[in-house]
Amino acid sequence: MIAEDEPAGLADFRQEVRGFIAEKLPTVVREKVRRGVILDRDELDLWERQLTARGWFVPHWPERWGGLAMEPMWRMTLDEELARNDCPEASPFGPEMVGPMLMQFGDDAQKEFFLPRIVSLEHHWCQGYSEPNAGSDLASLQTRAVRDGGDYVVNGSKIWTSGAHYADWMFALVRTGADGKPQEGISFLLINMRSPGITVKPIIGIHGWHLFNQVFLDDVHVPVANLVGQENMGWTIAKSVLEHERLKLSRVPECHRRMARVKALAASLKERGQPVAQRDWFKLKLATLEVRLMALEASVLRFRRQALAGGRLGAETARLKLRGSQLVQAFDNLTVDVAGPLSLPYDHASHHDLVDNAPRPWDVATTSARRFMGRGFTIAGGSSEIQHNQLAKQVLGL
Ligand SMILES: Cc1cc2nc3c(=O)[nH]c(=O)nc-3n(C[C@H](O)[C@H](O)[C@H](O)COP(=O)(O)OP(=O)(O)OC[C@H]3O[C@@H](n4cnc5c(N)ncnc54)[C@H](O)[C@@H]3O)c2cc1C
Repeated sequence: MIAEDEPAGLADFRQEVRGFIAEKLPTVVREKVRRGVILDRDELDLWERQLTARGWFVPHWPERWGGLAMEPMWRMTLDEELARNDCPEASPFGPEMVGPMLMQFGDDAQKEFFLPRIVSLEHHWCQGYSEPNAGSDLASLQTRAVRDGGDYVVNGSKIWTSGAHYADWMFALVRTGADGKPQEGISFLLINMRSPGITVKPIIGIHGWHLFNQVFLDDVHVPVANLVGQENMGWTIAKSVLEHERLKLSRVPECHRRMARVKALAASLKERGQPVAQRDWFKLKLATLEVRLMALEASVLRFRRQALAGGRLGAETARLKLRGSQLVQAFDNLTVDVAGPLSLPYDHASHHDLVDNAPRPWDVATTSARRFMGRGFTIAGGSSEIQHNQLAKQVLGL
């Protein structure tokens, strides 16, 4: 926890969260998370249902929409405890992206329909921004939406769409205009993934897991009622969503999870007859990362308070995403340093199953796969080069 004076009641809240986890986290879910194995949708639902029943799936949302308007210090404590105690990372798309976006830009009907269904877990979402020829240069996207009576007819393809294989809805950027700058012809649509004309094809990552997809849209009819904001103003909405996404992509809880793991691993393994945890090189590296984590956490807290007060987050959030993705990978690298040759085996059986009979400690079998996954954090949500460019131009005015 960061070096801000701990407010009264926070220690009790921390205990309350730990008690909740001990009681409600299903064993099968806890064991998979401990081993670093990817959960399937049903397993994740088991846990998210517990969070939702307790009001902790969207604790930062206003009470009007099923949240608790939780003060950010409490929210960060909640997230930290969940991560450190083997709870799965909840999907960010509904709670962190679509929800806040609709509260700001959606019309009343959209809010009334979609927000409660995020909280009740009836709708899972995916993000349809990137295309085969539009990633960093997102404004060059070509998926086209053409008005046909009360519908848009959408044609094109989205790629790297995380979780599209179990999503019910996709929030997507589509081209609706060709005049002016490319940014001026983009609209923001909410697309039902069960619509005729949608095909989801899996992409298997270097880590061996199926997390991404390519989504093909062929003459998909989307009611005009599912347009958010005005036609051709999608770029403004997309930027706001990215700013909120970067709060999540600061990955502070995930750093806490990794820090707890690497400490436990270092205590359980020996080097030259001594627990790794007592080796000077390890203590120095760990202390360096812990200080970096405290600094990042303090920045995130400031932005979360800004978000709760309804303020715009702005381009400076690029710093959070940049630092968070670097820090997660620094913890992953430290874990590999600690595990040494134990982290080398990298095969399907070792990280797809519960590896009950594996001769290695439970938490090293997926070390390599996890490290490959963390590598993707440099790119996801906008690559590091793009974050640097944004900071240089929009924050520093260079
Ligand atoms: C784990 C993961 C999850 C993802 N999930 C989703 C998702 O759910 N939905 C979605 O829409 N997308 C998703 N993406 C896609 C992601 O947003 C894009 O991969 C990213 O924006 C980069 O685009 P690109 O892959 O086309 O690379 P490119 O844009 O082709 O970039 C290639 C390289 O060139 C560099 N580069 C490009 N332009 C510049 C520049 N102007 N200055 C300096 N360097 C530059 C980049 O930094 C990069 O190193 C995901 C990606 C990953 C890795």
